[in-house]
Amino acid sequence: MNIALIAHDKKKDDLVRFAIAYKNILAEHQLFATGTTGLRITEATQLPIHRFQSGPLGGDQEIGAYIANNKMDGVFFFRDPLTVQPHEPDVSALIRLCDVYSVPLATNMGTAEILIKGLERGDLSWRSIVHGKKGD
Ligand code: PGA
Repeated sequence: MNIALIAHDKKKDDLVRFAIAYKNILAEHQLFATGTTGLRITEATQLPIHRFQSGPLGGDQEIGAYIANNKMDGVFFFRDPLTVQPHEPDVSALIRLCDVYSVPLATNMGTAEILIKGLERGDLSWRSIVHGKKGD
């Protein structure tokens, strides 16, 4: 599965801890991330991650393009609900596209725990059947 990892600045520590805890599950998948998030997770886990631009510089939109082309199977997006983001329209657009394309999206640790366990069980495998083999 192609999996996207994104965290706003105040949530990056949480996502790094999450990635460390579930490294073995994440390692089974192709990982993508916005620039700074990807760097942080790679440094902490040594997992290979394709890094897009930083979120405020277009990274959210790049991930959105993957979603619109059925190339993303799940998104972990640890957003900060208490801080105004300069790229708020991009954040909304990314969440909207997940809903348009029914891409599983976890925006907080609670849902992320459920999604990662579903990923481990193969609950998202139907996506590759419906959408065919993914390119990157
Ligand atoms: P970043 O982008 O990983 O490059 O910090 C995340 C975001 O703010 O959308």
